[in-house]
Amino acid sequence: MATNRTFTMIKPDATQENHIGGILSMIEEGGFRIVSLKKVLLTPERAGQFYEVHKERPFYGDLVKYMSSGPIVAAILEKDNAVADFRTLIGATNPAQAAEGTIRKKYAKSIEANAVHGSDSDENAQIEGNFFFTADEQF
Ligand code: ATP
Ligand code: MG
Repeated sequence: MATNRTFTMIKPDATQENHIGGILSMIEEGGFRIVSLKKVLLTPERAGQFYEVHKERPFYGDLVKYMSSGPIVAAILEKDNAVADFRTLIGATNPAQAAEGTIRKKYAKSIEANAVHGSDSDENAQIEGNFFFTADEQF
């Protein structure tokens, strides 16, 4: 079932360089409502659980280490066509290929330290949102 919500994280490189406010501004200016919001330090175990789908990929170990290297900001966002529109707003995984005006073009440092996460499907948006927020936190 299609939903109008997606899930994002502001990644450790961006939180450490004080870009939380700048990125949340781009998100709100992009027409998204912030449904849920929290700043969290992931343990390597919990980061590994979140990225379980990438377990077999060569960068998994580094990704887990990076995602637990500093606090992240987790958020559930709402807008019509949220998943696809948010992937457009964040831009390509590799910032060298990210379009002008995207969050990754402005804030990402590398293909790994790429400032933000965005869910890739409605199903994953729901799973990922529930990973961080209880039902009474999703308003
Ligand atoms: P995300 O899921 O974080 O929104 P994405 O969907 O654009 O990013 P994925 O293919 O799902 O990209 O990869 C998840 C994350 O793993 C990337 O955002 C990046 O931090 C890291 N990553 C992806 N490819 C590489 C790579 N070749 N080398 C190092 N890290 C990578
Ligand atoms: Mg992805």
